[in-house]
Amino acid sequence: VQAVFRSNLSHLLDLMGSGKESLIFMKKRTKRLTAQWALAAQRLAQKLGATWRDQKQILVHIGFLTEESGDVFSPRVLKGGPLGEMVQWADILAALYVLGHGLRVTVSLKELQSNLGVPPGRGSCPLTMPLPFDLIYTDYHGLQQMKQHMGLSFKKYRCRIRVIDTFGTEPAYNHEEYATLHGYRTNWGYWNLNPKQFMTMFPHTPDNSFMGFVSEELNETEKQLIKGGKASNMAVVYGKEASIWKGKEKFLGILNKYMEIHGTVYYESQRPPEVPAFVKNHGLLPQPEFQQLLRKAKLFIGFGFPYEGPAPLEAIANGCIFLQSRFSPPHSSLNHEFFRGKPTSREVFSQHPYAENFIGKPHVWTVDYNNSEEFEAAIKAIMRTQVDPYLPYEYTCEGMLERIHAYIQHQDFCVAPGPALPGAHTPQSPFVLAPNATHLEWAQNASLAPAAWPPAHSLRAWLATPGRACTDTCLDHGLICEPSFFPFLNSQDAFLKLQVPCDSTESEMNHLYPAFAQPGQECYLQKEPLLFSCAGSNTKYRRLCPCRDFRKGQVALCQGCL
Ligand code: UDP
Repeated sequence: VQAVFRSNLSHLLDLMGSGKESLIFMKKRTKRLTAQWALAAQRLAQKLGATWRDQKQILVHIGFLTEESGDVFSPRVLKGGPLGEMVQWADILAALYVLGHGLRVTVSLKELQSNLGVPPGRGSCPLTMPLPFDLIYTDYHGLQQMKQHMGLSFKKYRCRIRVIDTFGTEPAYNHEEYATLHGYRTNWGYWNLNPKQFMTMFPHTPDNSFMGFVSEELNETEKQLIKGGKASNMAVVYGKEASIWKGKEKFLGILNKYMEIHGTVYYESQRPPEVPAFVKNHGLLPQPEFQQLLRKAKLFIGFGFPYEGPAPLEAIANGCIFLQSRFSPPHSSLNHEFFRGKPTSREVFSQHPYAENFIGKPHVWTVDYNNSEEFEAAIKAIMRTQVDPYLPYEYTCEGMLERIHAYIQHQDFCVAPGPALPGAHTPQSPFVLAPNATHLEWAQNASLAPAAWPPAHSLRAWLATPGRACTDTCLDHGLICEPSFFPFLNSQDAFLKLQVPCDSTESEMNHLYPAFAQPGQECYLQKEPLLFSCAGSNTKYRRLCPCRDFRKGQVALCQGCL
């Protein structure tokens, strides 16, 4: 069946159920954004023209909202608890619905069981039963619940699951045996999924799929109006919880010399003691009022926590400049409580790396807060800087629809992955060394261009410098690492074509392979396809990296990916 775009979201609101504070928050958001989604659907429909889109049957099981996993969020919605997750789930539901797919939403174990066809009273069904869904979107909590209650069919159908995973899961942490042997075990488990089945809030590592969310969009008239109405000396502090203000007196004091400081910190009856008296605290605001506040403000300022939420994007979309602190040394699971035990080794160089790297100046200023002069100079410069409201395409409704459309139509983890594992015979890989002899390109007339997605001809392969990860190596060349291309490179022939002098070639399980080890002139190939990883580095190795181009403002998709 062909999927048909939808612009009326009232049936979706019914599907979302009711009762919980978190659902109320999500439904309000969906309602408020209806017109924006409808317009985006129209535009994407035009862009895609006659492209066929399969209608999928989709289950969305929001594990963290189930009583069985403790539902710790709902009671905190009114107290400034993590709303980012709810923003994202609301937007995922809207996108799937607007794209025209068949949708079921569950927020309890009972509903999950009845949708999966597990007989009531039985813990799990021992037989493999047909699954009435093509796709299941869930989170780590939901994954655990499905494993417990689907019996054998979990294994059979797990390729249909997509895990919404805010901070991401790197391949080394996902592979059970490897994680256990090499110290990558975490509380989140090792599910042996295809790493692309994990979907993140920001494009952290291309090993996972970037899901994202949307921010409210402005039309030209609104943009002009907002630019005219800015109070050049008004600052809003990022963070709804009082704890983030602790120990920040020095910065607040400096900022207060120049600007009127506003906060949206949750409080019960009194001003939280962490928030100084010169700050105008509005308490936690309903989302539309928070947007209004951002429209008036000149500066949105972060004090290091929370990490990587939606609010800075909303602030920039509403014409604020975002000022944040640089982390030196970077924060990671090795040195910071928040990231400890998370299945990633990513190093976070500022409070909001996406804002820093994908948006940057003049919208985003990342400075060393330990240096009071640098901090003060930034504030003064910001007050003199004019900016337009800005929202990257990938965070617009159209951008999110486009991306999810592409994933749904092209990502299939139920088929065995590509070619060229060591041992398998690929007589000749279809590359040539580029004319400037720096990297490999897909040969123009290669007869065996396989029907891969992303299309294999967008591949550019580089040998990284020692100690450099493939994520960074590709970025160095204005490209993005594409893990699904690793199989094409995992051969002696690829090293040969790059003129790497391998004395010998071995095949092992290691998330840094394929790679070349300089001391022994040894070339290593990857034995386990699940361990292909863009992330990861070691000074011992020069990694062989598959990169591809990407659309401007839509890093998840290559030029020829739609
Ligand atoms: N937000 C809100 N009221 C406020 C402050 C923030 O509704 O007073 C919303 C904001 O619009 C954003 C969401 O809370 O979409 C999440 O914000 P944040 O970036 O702080 O992420 P979190 O840490 O909650 O995941």
